[in-house]
Amino acid sequence: MKEVIIIKLGEIVLKGLNRKTFEDRLIKNIKHRLHKIGPCKVKNSQSIITVAPVFDDIDIDEVADCISHIFGIAAFSRACVAEKDIENIKITSAEYLKDHFDRITSFKVEAKRSDKKFPFTSPEIAREVGGYLADTFPEVTVDVHDPDAVVTVEIRDDAAYIHSEVLKGAGGIPVGTGGKAAILISGGIDSPVAAYMMAKRGIELTAVHFASPPYTSERAEEKVVGLLERVAKYSGRMTMYTVPFTKLQEEIRDKCHEEYFTIIMRRFMMMLSERIAKQNECQALITGESLGQVASQTIGAIACTDIACDMPVFRPLIGMDKEEIITISRKIDTFDISIQPYEDCCTVFTPKHPRTRPVLKNVLAEEQKIDYEPLFSEALQNLKVTEIN
Ligand code: ATP
Ligand code: MG
Repeated sequence: MKEVIIIKLGEIVLKGLNRKTFEDRLIKNIKHRLHKIGPCKVKNSQSIITVAPVFDDIDIDEVADCISHIFGIAAFSRACVAEKDIENIKITSAEYLKDHFDRITSFKVEAKRSDKKFPFTSPEIAREVGGYLADTFPEVTVDVHDPDAVVTVEIRDDAAYIHSEVLKGAGGIPVGTGGKAAILISGGIDSPVAAYMMAKRGIELTAVHFASPPYTSERAEEKVVGLLERVAKYSGRMTMYTVPFTKLQEEIRDKCHEEYFTIIMRRFMMMLSERIAKQNECQALITGESLGQVASQTIGAIACTDIACDMPVFRPLIGMDKEEIITISRKIDTFDISIQPYEDCCTVFTPKHPRTRPVLKNVLAEEQKIDYEPLFSEALQNLKVTEIN
């Protein structure tokens, strides 16, 4: 039995004149993401996107799983394809829906006939197929008002499509339609969630990670790669830049007053990230900051770091509680990796009493004690590039 996937678009349908751009990008993303599974035909007609594996040995479960992670899709169904003959449609429906009907107690059939040459009207198709299913599965009753399952039979030009279960899509808008931004990624819980949330709004990601060997280990970096691979299931592929940050952190430790250590380090992160972002045509930075979570995330501290760069900084978690963030991180499967205990550069040389209400003037005076430009150049010349697929 040949199975395909039928996709229902999300917010894209509200896009008016821009709709075509969004649809085209979604189709491009679908094709690109399915590429590793096997060749699939992706067809868009009358705002219904159909994905059909070209070969029988392509695993449709894998295709469905991949589709469920693509932004811009509100819902989708697996459907079986039948020849356009009413007897054949009945038999195929019963065969295809057997497992599903084991789990339900009532159903109804809806028919859509876009091929007007088909010799039965929509109500006639619904009646024929409904009657046959009721006879085949006597323990499942017809309920037109509140059924457990709605079986849909679509008669299209090329074939008949039968589907029942509607599965939830990833929502959002297609990645790439919202421009490009750089996510400052740590090994923590928050930043992978922030990356996911902005990708959901159509942003294509580039990742920047600061590492301070030997204070941070190779394993800590591998952890970040692992997190980004999970995010990439939703966002699609991205490039990760690892910035060697040790010298700058040691300079701050040696030259600046301890209570300003974190804030200056964070300002340097923003400045370096902005430069990497610009080299990669990114128009914004993204962080996983949440107001009040730690000393560097007070309104005063954020004001001091925000001003270190000229780009908009998106902080999608700013108003969220840790519990809410953890719920998303479990959903996107990053939580288990995030809680592995590896050090982050933010946790080396942390002051005992960081300034929670830093005064910008004083921060800048401390920062000026460091001749940071040559160190920035050196760090940027020694970026490590990792492709995340
Ligand atoms: P996370 O869980 O994302 O690590 P956090 O609650 O631990 O966040 P901080 O350590 O203060 O908070 O970091 C705030 C934000 O700064 C992070 O969400 C991330 O965007 C960025 N950040 C922190 N450490 C790094 C790093 N090593 N490389 C790149 N960005 C970082
Ligand atoms: Mg952190």
